[in-house]
Amino acid sequence: MGSPLETKELMVELQSKGIKITQGTGKGRQGGAGPANGKGLVFGKNQITVPTTGECAINSHYTLHEDGEHSLIFKDGELVSEVELIGTPRFYALHTADGVPYNKIALLHGRDCLASTVIQTCSRWHGGERCQFCGIGTSLSDNKTMPVKTPKQLAEVAEVAVCLDGVTHVTLTAGTTANPLYGIKHLGDCAQAIKEATGLPVHVQFEPVNDLSTYSHLKDCGVDTVGMHLESFDQKVRERITPGKAKLPVSEYFEGFAKAVEVFGRNQVSTYIIIGLGESLADTLAGCIRCIKMGVYPFVVPLRPVKETTFANMSPPEPKTMIELYTEVARALADNGLRAAASKAGCVRCGACSVLPAFER
Ligand code: SF4
Repeated sequence: MGSPLETKELMVELQSKGIKITQGTGKGRQGGAGPANGKGLVFGKNQITVPTTGECAINSHYTLHEDGEHSLIFKDGELVSEVELIGTPRFYALHTADGVPYNKIALLHGRDCLASTVIQTCSRWHGGERCQFCGIGTSLSDNKTMPVKTPKQLAEVAEVAVCLDGVTHVTLTAGTTANPLYGIKHLGDCAQAIKEATGLPVHVQFEPVNDLSTYSHLKDCGVDTVGMHLESFDQKVRERITPGKAKLPVSEYFEGFAKAVEVFGRNQVSTYIIIGLGESLADTLAGCIRCIKMGVYPFVVPLRPVKETTFANMSPPEPKTMIELYTEVARALADNGLRAAASKAGCVRCGACSVLPAFER
């Protein structure tokens, strides 16, 4: 059961190839944002979410078997690793005084990150501009969540999740609002309420804005880290995959990154970069290095098949591609003094959607 290098490679394989669930364990969270349609697995210090649906998982050589005592991963019937599963958090069993289940307000991501989509609607959902990988409206119509979570509800859930499940940081995101500043304001209000109730470090995600005071306002609300997600450095890929967001040129993201670093500091600003959308690897690496030099952590992740989206049966990139990219990006991170472990909150600190943090070590 493997040296650390083998474990790292196994994690990459699993995120690219998916895993079949054989016995004793569910498929993990279905639908929604972030690590949807995946199962949380822990390998020592590293945690990852692995696709459990879509053609990649159905045809995977890997299977997960749980017998009540052990969780085991097999490849073509041969045992390759024991693994720890991330179980259902205890706070999911509770609800607010007015009867809203806590897991319609926030979810556990990875082992210890409380995550919520505080506005579950997006002005781009109808009308052909939605992001191709996104299931924000699907979770809402499936009645798995609330359209808007209030600061008070989030503070209540966060307090309980700290006590019952040892949550240590928070990720807040939102669909795009017709006036983007409204969404950002609501994110700030939610962050402030959570911070006042728990003191937890909070990460928020939004699209870049021109005005430095917006970033300063979020900082004043108690936000510790921010993410502005480009998804790809390739404008043609952006126009195909994220047609609405692509109207904001890549240059505006970089302007936003600079402003955010000025306010939150190096290593506390990130962008999500999805691999497997037809982008050039050389251009992706160049884009990542440009981010890293300015203090922005490029959180590189493989495409994930998400049910009921156009990505449902798409295949994640080959492990070889991910290993190559992780190795180069990790080297650039080290050369420029950035580390996932130094991020105070959010996806970079959580790390479950990418094996990049494991390549840093
Ligand atoms: S990396 Fe981000 S989206 Fe993925 S599980 Fe962690 S907090 Fe959620």
